[in-house]
Amino acid sequence: MNATPPPVSPPPAASLSLAERLARERRARLAAERTLEWKMRELAAAQEKLALQARALSEQMVEERQSAHAARSEAARLKGQNERYLGDLDRAHTAAVMAERRLRTSIDTIRDGFAVFDTDNRLVMANRAFLAPFAPGSILPGMAYPDLLAALTPLLRLDVAGDDWVQQMLARIASDPIPPVELALLSGPSLRLEDSIARDGDRVCLAIDITAEMRLRAAIEAIPDGFVIFDRNDRLTLCNQTYRDLCAADGITVEPGIRFQDILRASVASGQFPAAAGREDDFIQDRLAEFRAASGHVELHLADGRWLRAQDRPTPDGGRVGLRRDITAEREVQETLRAARHAAEAANGAKSAFLANMSHEIRTPMNGVVGMAELLCGTDLTEDQRLFAETIRSSGEALLAIINDILDWSKIEAGRLVLHPAPFDLERLIHETAILLQPQARAKGIDLLVDYDMFLPTRLVGDAGRLRQVLTNLMGNAVKFTETGHVLVRVVGTMEDGDRLRLHITVEDTGIGIAPEHADHIFGDFNQVETAEDRRYQGTGLGLAITRRLVERMDGHLWLDSVPGEGSCFGFALTLPVAERIAAPGVPTALHHVLLAEANPVNRAILERQLHQLGIAVLHHRSGLEPLSTDGLDLLLIDADQGAEDGLALLSALRARGHRAPALLMAAPDAMARAEALVAEGSAQAVLAKPVPRSDLFAALRHLTGARLPAAVAEPPAARRLRILAAEDNRTNQLVLAKMLRDLDLDLRFAEDGRQAIDLWRGFHPDLIFMDISMPVMDGCTAARAIRAAEGGLAHVPIVALTAHAMEEDSDRIRDAGMDHHLTKPLRRSAILDVLSRYTARLEDRATAA
Ligand code: ADP
Repeated sequence: MNATPPPVSPPPAASLSLAERLARERRARLAAERTLEWKMRELAAAQEKLALQARALSEQMVEERQSAHAARSEAARLKGQNERYLGDLDRAHTAAVMAERRLRTSIDTIRDGFAVFDTDNRLVMANRAFLAPFAPGSILPGMAYPDLLAALTPLLRLDVAGDDWVQQMLARIASDPIPPVELALLSGPSLRLEDSIARDGDRVCLAIDITAEMRLRAAIEAIPDGFVIFDRNDRLTLCNQTYRDLCAADGITVEPGIRFQDILRASVASGQFPAAAGREDDFIQDRLAEFRAASGHVELHLADGRWLRAQDRPTPDGGRVGLRRDITAEREVQETLRAARHAAEAANGAKSAFLANMSHEIRTPMNGVVGMAELLCGTDLTEDQRLFAETIRSSGEALLAIINDILDWSKIEAGRLVLHPAPFDLERLIHETAILLQPQARAKGIDLLVDYDMFLPTRLVGDAGRLRQVLTNLMGNAVKFTETGHVLVRVVGTMEDGDRLRLHITVEDTGIGIAPEHADHIFGDFNQVETAEDRRYQGTGLGLAITRRLVERMDGHLWLDSVPGEGSCFGFALTLPVAERIAAPGVPTALHHVLLAEANPVNRAILERQLHQLGIAVLHHRSGLEPLSTDGLDLLLIDADQGAEDGLALLSALRARGHRAPALLMAAPDAMARAEALVAEGSAQAVLAKPVPRSDLFAALRHLTGARLPAAVAEPPAARRLRILAAEDNRTNQLVLAKMLRDLDLDLRFAEDGRQAIDLWRGFHPDLIFMDISMPVMDGCTAARAIRAAEGGLAHVPIVALTAHAMEEDSDRIRDAGMDHHLTKPLRRSAILDVLSRYTARLEDRATAA
């Protein structure tokens, strides 16, 4: 701070010169200026000080202002917090109110009753279910428990007086723990009261609705068997009175909680199970294992003679639910049934044996009757004698057919029909059957046709004998019940798994047909269509029943389509293994154009299809002797029977006109002789027997390839006579056999018994042996076995058994004895010739070789 300048005092103005005055003035001014400067400085210093003070003051003010602001914010924060606390408090209160309301609602929605009583036994609260049985508003909080009980009493079904019940209930809540009690309301439902004391001393009472449980218990009680449920630890949870009684019989009182094994051990200890005697532990272990396995059932024999069936099953919670049934009566019935079945089987066996014996007894004399009648028919007879002889023969045959049917039927009934599958030719079998039926068909003027799909194999594996029986029956019926038109056997099929053929065989006729209402009936035993028209036809009504069962026995099925008045079609489907795949038929290269003269449209279609498949064009000849050019034709295929016209006359006429193409004839037995005469004179090359087997047709066509009226076939080289040995003890039968073979130019020798047969076989070297089965000294089977043993596999003479039996066991015995074939008496000439021709090829080979 500057020192204050010395004060300047101006000299008096009068005494001074101007300069002095001026100097004085200047000095004064300077002094004033200095003073001013001093003052200014002071002022500045004061101002500066003031400014400093002001700044300090303002800084202080700022600070004060800031702390005031902070205080204000804090106050605001605290206020906000306070408000939040208040909000929270408010919300918490609302939530608590809501929660309480929700809890009440929830408690009200519980189906079971719920109530709380305070330590003074006054009602604190109760839910809707608890109050439901009472009149609305009659039970209010604060009500004393005894008053509540008094209000409840009139609503209950009680078996004690109301007051007593109230006393019991009051005593009950005084006990610890409080036992549950069940109540039945007069309005229906049942309740169980379960009370417990809470920590604060209040009593909580649950009134559980057990109506469904009571119903279930009533149902379980209604079960006549013992019923029991064990939990996963094998402890009993529930059982009915019957189960309790069963256990009581063993001296065991069952209570919930008792273990299965304890009940079991107690029953074993009481000697309840005789089967456990001496092996008690094992018995218990076995029974426990069965109980745990809980599959199936066990039958337990009880000491008092009764039988109990115990059946246990698992429950979803791992426990067991069991039934115990007294099956004593059931077992007695079973025992009676078993005895009855044994008796029935024995009776059935006796019936079969009786039938077999009867058949033997009837067949033996029938051999004489039928055989002799057949021979008699072959002699010179007057008209009347022939009629009588024919009648004896046909009646005998009819009787035999019936015996065979009854035998077959009884065999099927007894379940003793055994199939013998072996390779056979189905097409050939059908043709053979057709040929046998041909005479009846021709007599009625019916065409018997076979259509075997040419791309199907024919060598199959099956029981040819039984299949022949099925076909004979269906085709025989078709011929029997048809007066005009045709009977057509059609075979189609498809290959399955490469080597099995699924066959569909149908036998279709144009006969009287079968009404739909009879369609099922006719497959029954002894059933026939009972109409006046049908009764013109004879029969036992067993044929279709046997046929159906045979087909079913071969795992096939039989069906029928029929329109009454138009015809019937019986069909069956079978699957048979293929024995040999068909070789593609050798196509005759030189045959391109064939003239087919066949009047029957169905047969014409079949033949045409077969020829087309060989690549041969078919020209149809329609009317008998129409002018015809055979130029360019390789073959004439002519049916001898052209309906109204004669096929043989047609051929003769063609030849007379100079037609040179080779000719094949097809003839039924009645036209056979005339047809063969045309072959003999060279007009035709061969005759085929109708219906023509495909293989025969192909063979004939192959033979004709390139041929143009070939020169007469050379006679076969003369062969020695065939040697036949017949072992037969019965003189009549010897005579029948000798007569039947009479015109065959055979060397035939008889043996009287099996031993003689063996001796003769050694010296005579027969080409074939007919061997009777029942003979004195040594039977046929023993003799055949001895011959096979002596042959030692080096040679094999065909042995044909002759038997009067027709039972299955015989076929087996015969096969086992090493015999090749089996003929049932009475012998028929056709069957004997068939057997001879079957072995002829082999025999002729041997004869020429010999
Ligand atoms: P049967 O011919 O011995 O009487 P089946 O069992 O063979 O016994 O036949 C039962 C019945 O079925 C015959 O009596 C006949 O009424 C009827 N029937 C069977 N086949 C034919 C058919 N092809 N056409 C018409 N009816 C038939």
